[in-house]
Amino acid sequence: MNRYKDFFKESISEYGLLLSDEKWECLCNFYKMLLEKNKVMNLTAITDPFDVVVKHFLDSLSLCSVFDFTECSSVVDVGTGAGFPGIVLKIFFPEINFVLVDSLGKRVSFLEDVISEISLKNICAIHGRAEDLGHDLKYREQFDLCVSRAVANIATLCEYCIPFVKVGGSFIAYKSGNTDDDPEKFEKAVNELGGEKYFSKKFVLNGEFDRSFICISKSISTPEKYPRRPGIPGKRPII
Ligand code: SAM
Repeated sequence: MNRYKDFFKESISEYGLLLSDEKWECLCNFYKMLLEKNKVMNLTAITDPFDVVVKHFLDSLSLCSVFDFTECSSVVDVGTGAGFPGIVLKIFFPEINFVLVDSLGKRVSFLEDVISEISLKNICAIHGRAEDLGHDLKYREQFDLCVSRAVANIATLCEYCIPFVKVGGSFIAYKSGNTDDDPEKFEKAVNELGGEKYFSKKFVLNGEFDRSFICISKSISTPEKYPRRPGIPGKRPII
């Protein structure tokens, strides 16, 4: 992993980010834990150190090309899996409160180990489904930003994610390859859930991989009936 330190440092400088030795050490420890745990449970198919640097670390931080964190104090990562993008963003924005949500208990236990091992503060990993936690007043409409990577189609994701966002906050979905970013496929969900403006930004990660962000801002409160019960947003997205 160390031989990619300069490459990574240079790559993130494009987002205005600086790599301290301390941050790099956190990422290396996270990588070691990921590889070790991946032997006994399915966390990621990407294990080669360069691939992890590009497809997990750099990809997570590419959000900085569309979102300015200066005014942000709380972030929720829905369907965080092994901690992407949540853990990586937390390492770079230590002053922001993070909540990482996943429906798989084993992944959440792994994240708790990571949080403790690399001594991250003001971050917690919660085991639960977005459809349930989105009704919990501890989390509902409590976040400046909700992010989600590789979890579901956009209409479904809107129902998982927009309920967590404060009025005036944003939901941003990470998408890869040929995305379902045709506004017709999620416009109704955005409007129904309290979202307003949206835009998408396509880019090429490390000059090689097609990616895009779909950014939605929230202008009014989400109606109480959303999210619908577990499984329904996936089976019957609002389209
Ligand atoms: N975001 C990570 C990444 O990009 O590597 C993980 C992506 S993984 C393909 C999708 C994750 O979403 C899984 O860990 C799964 O358990 C979680 N997930 C799926 N549906 C969910 C839901 N309704 N609520 C919470 N987590 C969910």
